[in-house]
Amino acid sequence: KIGEIADREKINAYVIGGFVRDLIIGRRNLDVDIVVEGDAPSFAKKVAKELNGKLHSFEKFKTATVTLPDGFRIDFASARTEIYRAPGALPEVDTAPLKKDLFRRDFTINTLAIKINGKEFGKLIDFFNGLKDIKEKKIRVLHALSFVEDPTRILRALRFAVRYRFDLGKHTEKLLRIAVKKNLFRTVEGKRVYLELKHIFEEENPLRIVNRMKEYGILKSISSGIIWDKRKKDFFERIRKVINWHKLTFGNRKKVNYPIIYFAAFLEGIHGKELEKLLKDFSIPEKEVDLIKNLIYRGKQLLKTLEKEKLKNSEIYNLLKSEPDELTLYIAAKTDKEKLRLKLLDFLGEWKEMKLAITGRDLKETGLKPGPVFKKILKTLKDKVIDGEIDNVYDELKTEA
Ligand code: ATP
Repeated sequence: KIGEIADREKINAYVIGGFVRDLIIGRRNLDVDIVVEGDAPSFAKKVAKELNGKLHSFEKFKTATVTLPDGFRIDFASARTEIYRAPGALPEVDTAPLKKDLFRRDFTINTLAIKINGKEFGKLIDFFNGLKDIKEKKIRVLHALSFVEDPTRILRALRFAVRYRFDLGKHTEKLLRIAVKKNLFRTVEGKRVYLELKHIFEEENPLRIVNRMKEYGILKSISSGIIWDKRKKDFFERIRKVINWHKLTFGNRKKVNYPIIYFAAFLEGIHGKELEKLLKDFSIPEKEVDLIKNLIYRGKQLLKTLEKEKLKNSEIYNLLKSEPDELTLYIAAKTDKEKLRLKLLDFLGEWKEMKLAITGRDLKETGLKPGPVFKKILKTLKDKVIDGEIDNVYDELKTEA
């Protein structure tokens, strides 16, 4: 359909990048990127109209996003032809805008395109041997200055390598080592490093990526204070497990910031002042900074109490009930005490979700006068249920009353 619109508008359109890569590898990918050799926002507008989608355009960048009624997202970009040329410059004859656009990308596996209009519909366009590299399972940069141009690609290379179980190409690995040695990371805007780290923590297995970062000496160029020892690795592995448990238990019903749990664990152990500086350098949104600090500091404090004292279930419940799920997951993963971990997961999966079968109305029916005492009674009852001290709240209610 989009191809037909392109035909009618007489411009070429291509599906490119990650979607094509994942199509060939056989991995699910719900984000489609389309490049048009023309004006993307006005093209996207026509697509949105015909497919009943919602349109968001960014005129300044000549990009647009269309979200279809079923939630499917399509990003549109313009192949950079004359758009960014300085005013007054001579018009160039641009023979291969698409190729030029793809040449800016990070790795060959991300440079594949499929034409979706005209007689060549469905044709795979492969300027930089991306298909061969997918078959050989190699991550390769497009040119020798790639990591210098943008050092965040160092992180991206390791992320893709771990995700697809690909190796770095020999030359690419050499270039990566040189870039790390030159400490190029220091030149990158902190915010971009943070965003790439967050992408890493959104992956299925961040532990393996951070292991590779350590191998290549990248951790110390992010911050000299980052601790990566056996304890931290075990911590990461358990985070993966408690997150998987949480996803299985709640599906999409709860909005939880999973990557932030890894991020806090990653930074845990860095000293106060250094941590403050790092959080500032990364330009992390304030809300996330608060959450990270809450996990690290409050997490440490809570865990001390939880590990040392033998608390009743209801005491654990009252300690954690107003805290975000991220914090409970963080401490559930941090402790090496298996029994405590299971209790904390019980708290999240059961106690926190539990609704008492009786309400204030039931209390009224017993003849009690409404007042602050109601709250107290209900709380006592809930604590008793959580502690397994009562089976039937109605029977208990009679005695309590
Ligand atoms: P994912 O499956 O993680 O979403 P993706 O390939 O779609 O992978 P994005 O980070 O969404 O990754 O980037 C979209 C495309 O933009 C990539 O395919 C990549 O080619 C390009 N890209 C992103 N970041 C860079 C970068 N730092 N340098 C060059 N190209 C980049």
